[in-house]
Amino acid sequence: MTHSAQLNQLLLKGIDTPKLHTLEVYRQGGGYSKLAEILARKQEDVIETVKASGLRGRGGAGFPTGLKWSFVPKDIFPRYLVVNADEGEPGTFKDRLLLHNNPHLLIEGIIHSSYALKAHIAFIYIRGEFFKEYLMLENAVNEAYEAGLLGENIAESGYNLDIVVHRGAGAYICGEESALLESLEGRRGNPKLKPPFPAVKGVYEKPTVINNVETICAVPYILKEGADAYRQYGTEKSPGTKIFCISGHVEKPGNYEVPLGFSLKDFIYDIAGGIKEGKKLKAVIPGGSSTPMLPADAIDIPLDYEALAAAGTMLGSGAIIVINEHTCIVKIVKRLIHFYRHESCGKCTPCREGTNWMATIYDRLEKGEGKEGDIELLLDICDNISFKSFCPLGDAAIGPVVSSIKHFRTEYEAHIAGNYCLD
Ligand code: SF4
Repeated sequence: MTHSAQLNQLLLKGIDTPKLHTLEVYRQGGGYSKLAEILARKQEDVIETVKASGLRGRGGAGFPTGLKWSFVPKDIFPRYLVVNADEGEPGTFKDRLLLHNNPHLLIEGIIHSSYALKAHIAFIYIRGEFFKEYLMLENAVNEAYEAGLLGENIAESGYNLDIVVHRGAGAYICGEESALLESLEGRRGNPKLKPPFPAVKGVYEKPTVINNVETICAVPYILKEGADAYRQYGTEKSPGTKIFCISGHVEKPGNYEVPLGFSLKDFIYDIAGGIKEGKKLKAVIPGGSSTPMLPADAIDIPLDYEALAAAGTMLGSGAIIVINEHTCIVKIVKRLIHFYRHESCGKCTPCREGTNWMATIYDRLEKGEGKEGDIELLLDICDNISFKSFCPLGDAAIGPVVSSIKHFRTEYEAHIAGNYCLD
């Protein structure tokens, strides 16, 4: 199959259709078909289908979705579904497209998923800066209520579901699930100790499943077409498709959905049109700013969870950031570290102090005022953050530092020698 024939086959199919965000146009494309049929199935069967599909969380962790759903205690009610639409990882803009262009796909996925979980209230926690997307979503939710797709007795099935759309207030840390729940309940968005995990004690201390927008948007296809149909895409261990958002120095940045296992090299050079203005590639951050970067000679690998882990990095949120030969790696990492310093919630010392110290060192490195031993000092700080921070933000912050030193140490040394950038 040609590369273009593999593009946008499930979640982004027809994504540019005019007025797809309206219920009328969404239904013309098959939206909400089979709803009554799915709501007539046993909830346990629905969960088994999602398990069999092999769908894994698309927010970054890649945890199997059906398995996550099955962790909810069987005898505790009420329980809740929370959709994490707090998309804030630098380089990531896939959920935003789904929320803006196809909000009914998310709503349909929420109905299916909430039904499977026996939940009657679902929350969508949407990033505060996504104001337009919030309005599109609210409009779609209202349309769904008016059409009897939400509220009481959905599609005459006897099943009731309400959706609450909740806006965040601009904190990156609220993408972390325990911080998100704190924020949703009206408290400061600080991460909480786990266990208990949200599946046992989440919203209002009740069982709660938290899934990313893209994950929930994959559910309607799986339930309508079956697990085997979904498994036709992707690999054995990483089934299905994934939306990758590619940005940086490529000719055609944007969102593209491909089967998992698609070649990273082909994605950059064929799908995204190659490096801008015919320049050479220097490095790629393959899964969002917190995933370790790869040098240009390491990109001949499949885009799936296993292959990227074997290469020492992660699929993450699917945000591919492409860096050309004329870009200073130290400058790029400095910007990322400033981001993490700003977004650190300050709760634990390794992250709060470590990101601050690293930002200070990067500031002097970039000015050509680096000191002997700065590289070792950066690595020592990373070592003191790694697995010693309270939540994943600390480890996220060190990914670009450690990987850039590993692959581009000479650039750091040039900065320390006062030569600034090598280019
Ligand atoms: Fe807060 Fe950072 Fe500690 Fe997470 S790792 S709790 S963001 S200070």
